[in-house]
Amino acid sequence: MQADGPADVAKSVIVPEYLTGQSRMHFRCYPGIGCFTRCCSGIKILLSPYDIYVLKKRLGLTSTEFLSAYTYQSFIEKSMLPIPVLKMKDDENKSCPFVSPEGCSVYADRPLTCRYYPIGMGIMKQYDKKTGTNFFIKVKEDHCLGHNEDKEWTIDEWRADQGSDVYDEVNNDWLEIVLKAKTLGNVEFSGKSLELFYMVSSNLDDFRRFVFESNFLKGYKIDPGVVQKIQEDEIELLKFSLSWLRFTLFGEGDFIVDEDARKQAQEKRVAESEKRREEKSEAS
Ligand code: SF4
Ligand code: SF4
Repeated sequence: MQADGPADVAKSVIVPEYLTGQSRMHFRCYPGIGCFTRCCSGIKILLSPYDIYVLKKRLGLTSTEFLSAYTYQSFIEKSMLPIPVLKMKDDENKSCPFVSPEGCSVYADRPLTCRYYPIGMGIMKQYDKKTGTNFFIKVKEDHCLGHNEDKEWTIDEWRADQGSDVYDEVNNDWLEIVLKAKTLGNVEFSGKSLELFYMVSSNLDDFRRFVFESNFLKGYKIDPGVVQKIQEDEIELLKFSLSWLRFTLFGEGDFIVDEDARKQAQEKRVAESEKRREEKSEAS
């Protein structure tokens, strides 16, 4: 398997044709096919925010525990954006930690890359600052026999069958950030922005603390109904986090900064710092 989410796909296996959701392809993958699980080793699987959320829930881990046990940090091609990558096992084939003789042990919760295969979505959208055009690519590797099967799909039918469309919907704002950063190429993010990008896109538990255990909510005019929703529903919190990330990095989206509240907080910080300075100077 080579088709990473928003990552590189080895050029030699890409069919040189841009596809749309209506393009057709022959493909079928099933237990018993001669190449079964051959695509589940020696691969680089970049994990999207929803992948991490779903897998850590499946494994009963916190975000931090999952990241530490199952991932290492890499970068998204053509950008400086950091991203967790699934750590392969240290065996001869560098197998996926979830592959077994019976197939994928986390099949219902497998990452987006595995769902999309053999379709690549690395350059899914051309970005011209106002509109985007979706397109897909097909990956054809010699070992994958699924291409020889009779079953025919449109790309959209394949995505829906594999549940990829649900992942794309939850990841939507994150994908926009990644694709924009890749398309613009030389966007320079500050170190703080990159840290924020990694935290928000990989660690929902940290983001929850960031929102509810700091002054975060005072800095924006957010509908109380939305606050209640993100408190009660983790998927809503995840979507909110990615939407906020897009707003923070590119100013896109409908967040409204509460300038008065920010000014008051800033004045309070200055006053507190002044008080500490005076106390220190009195004590010395
Ligand atoms: S997560 Fe599952 S489908 Fe994906 S590479 Fe690992 S075993 Fe294969
Ligand atoms: S058909 Fe392709 S995707 Fe399916 S198991 Fe074989 S190599 Fe993997």
